Amino acid sequence: MWSKVYSVLDRTGRGLLPPRCILCAGAGRGPALDLCAHCDADLPWLAVACSRCGLPVDDPTLQETTTGCARCREQALPYERCHAAFRYEFPLSDLVHGLKYDRALANARVLGTLLAGSVAQQPVRRAVELLVPMPLHTSRLVARGFNQSLEIARFTAAALRMELAPRALQRRRETASQVGLARQARADNVRDAFAAAESQVAGRAVALLDDVVTTGATAAEASRALLIAGARSVDVWCLARASD
Ligand SMILES: [Zn+2]
Ligand SMILES: [Zn+2]
Repeated sequence: MWSKVYSVLDRTGRGLLPPRCILCAGAGRGPALDLCAHCDADLPWLAVACSRCGLPVDDPTLQETTTGCARCREQALPYERCHAAFRYEFPLSDLVHGLKYDRALANARVLGTLLAGSVAQQPVRRAVELLVPMPLHTSRLVARGFNQSLEIARFTAAALRMELAPRALQRRRETASQVGLARQARADNVRDAFAAAESQVAGRAVALLDDVVTTGATAAEASRALLIAGARSVDVWCLARASD
């Protein structure tokens, strides 16, 4: 439904409505980026991160080696790498919050386009064939009316000219919020929560797109479901990687 709305806006809006910055309401940038260069530069871009877990590595004691940084080295991760474009800080956090809770769907276009630009500069882009958004459980999808990860993924996939598989991954059951749970409890909370469609992912190198990865437990469990369904590899792409 929303893709239809966007494509109509694309057709009718281009050339009529100049792009407008979603943060300061100033002029955006052509052809269709609703963000000015000044606000773009103010975003909390994540410059140096662990290429395995995606967490910032600005602290020298956490420095990355070939097997990951001090925080992920001891962990077995089902995904190859997690790439985050930003730190989960203002004003990025407001853009994500506005999209999820205030239906600011224009934010999805900006966020998806920025994520694509960030991924395009990374070696992580190379091998990936298929983009799969993190699903919401049906009850939450009905309540919210849209899946923010899918709305972001539409623009990331379009900008990178990638195939998007909106229904390749499903939530089998509703899970409680991961906030405040200890590591083991988080893993238990999401165990077997996902199922992936073999017909769509088998043999393919997949990127799982999530808006914000906090503990990594949900992304890990979703990655496992993709691998069980035969995905050749899974990378995680997210707007922001927050530490827990
Ligand atoms: Zn601006
Ligand atoms: Zn790491």
